[in-house]
Amino acid sequence: MPIATINPATGELVQSFPALTEREIDDKIEAAWRAARAWRTAPIAERVAVVRRAGELLEERKAEYGRLMTLEMGKTYKSAVEEAAKCALGCQYYADNAERFLADQPVAAGKERSFVAFEPLGVVLAVMPWNFPFWQVIRFAAPALAAGNAGLLKHASNVPQCALALEQLFAEAGAPGGAFQTLLIGSDAVERVLADDRVAAATLTGSEGAGSSVASIAGKHIKKTVLELGGSDPFIVMPSADVDTAARTAVTARAINNGQSCIAAKRFIVADSIADRFTRAFVDAMRGLVVGDPMDERTNVGPLATKQIRDDLHSQVERSVACGATVLTGGHACDGAGYYYEPTVLGNVTREMPAFREETFGPLAVVARAKDADDAIELANQSRLGLGSAVWTREPAEIERFIRSLDAGSVFVNGMVASDPRFPFGGVKKSGYGRELSAFGMHEFVNIKTVRIFGESTSEGSLTE
Ligand code: NAP
Repeated sequence: MPIATINPATGELVQSFPALTEREIDDKIEAAWRAARAWRTAPIAERVAVVRRAGELLEERKAEYGRLMTLEMGKTYKSAVEEAAKCALGCQYYADNAERFLADQPVAAGKERSFVAFEPLGVVLAVMPWNFPFWQVIRFAAPALAAGNAGLLKHASNVPQCALALEQLFAEAGAPGGAFQTLLIGSDAVERVLADDRVAAATLTGSEGAGSSVASIAGKHIKKTVLELGGSDPFIVMPSADVDTAARTAVTARAINNGQSCIAAKRFIVADSIADRFTRAFVDAMRGLVVGDPMDERTNVGPLATKQIRDDLHSQVERSVACGATVLTGGHACDGAGYYYEPTVLGNVTREMPAFREETFGPLAVVARAKDADDAIELANQSRLGLGSAVWTREPAEIERFIRSLDAGSVFVNGMVASDPRFPFGGVKKSGYGRELSAFGMHEFVNIKTVRIFGESTSEGSLTE
């Protein structure tokens, strides 16, 4: 994939960037390694100040960063500005809590003084996707830098300007030279970076294929990884639900980020008795979404990020229709320039169909019917992926049952799945492993060190055993 900005709203090449040479990559790894050695001993207050300042800059520049995101990957400008603002909050969250998360934890284990310490691992490589070009990076970078690590960012090849802006952001926030750098490299150069002894660990957010490849390389070199991969989240609606609110929320949950979110609701599993009512309201609202220029504030759904993504989505529609699915609305690419696709709903969907089995990355929803709660749980868990899940019901016993039975990294009841710095984020099955955000996310890239000090003088002057 060329490293280039191609405006998905027009298909026009805006700017290309040469990939780094081997020598340049080596220089950047060396700079990161040196920075990590100094940064780990910097007072926590200094590290936290950088993260806090990065948050302030993100808030101040949210319009500028928003325009950049929209230009490179087509999300609506309104949502891009919201993304930059969310990044600001993410930085503030870690600035406010890092010291507490990293504080030594005493362990009462005898007369000696014992505690668990959290120390940085060193240089962490972050391989990131284009769909939330700022938020995905910040949720790695803020906790990793506050914990004393250095970051090397290999961003998706279609968002190079966002990647460079993030490097600049942390430099201006006061991160020492080398502590946070962007590597403009293709995915073929990732192995070379990860194999380098100066790189300690990696985090990847992206597809199953990319995750498997990076985890294999890391495994070969015995390096820690966190994988945040795809999702095919179920959105279950049971008979006791507020069907109208569920249908309205379903549209937002599916169309968010032009349908290109790992935690977008993708499979709508609806109890038979309310399926017609839900589907009518859902289809009407999907049909009413405004598709168009992502810079226009009236637009709900902008273009898909690349032509390939649009072609893949259309193939999923065609293959599912060939298996018996019914197009309830949409079903085609839009005419004209840019990579637009009609908001689409498929009905009569069964578990064997491609649009049910595969992750769909665009404004495509599938509706499947369930006989009862057991059937809904079975259908929901009928996926290789297990990132988020949502269930709509007002029955307390049913709520408890869904919470315990859904194979997913999160369960949202009567609401849509969303990330929040205060809660851990991640998946099970082929959605990956490890967690981002909250204290759990910060503890992924630290050395959890056991310390036991025997024979130490106590304040009373006596020796403990
Ligand atoms: P992708 O094609 O896997 O790319 C993600 C990143 O991995 C890019 O930087 C890409 O570089 C790199 N990459 C691709 N193949 C690689 C390989 N074999 N070795 C090393 N690096 C490789 O995914 P995407 O299309 O950008 O993003 C969409 C996917 O990300 C979806 O599956 C979505 O669900 C998932 N996602 C997951 C989360 C989560 O938190 N769980 C969040 C957002 C997105 P190039 O661009 O140079 O190819």
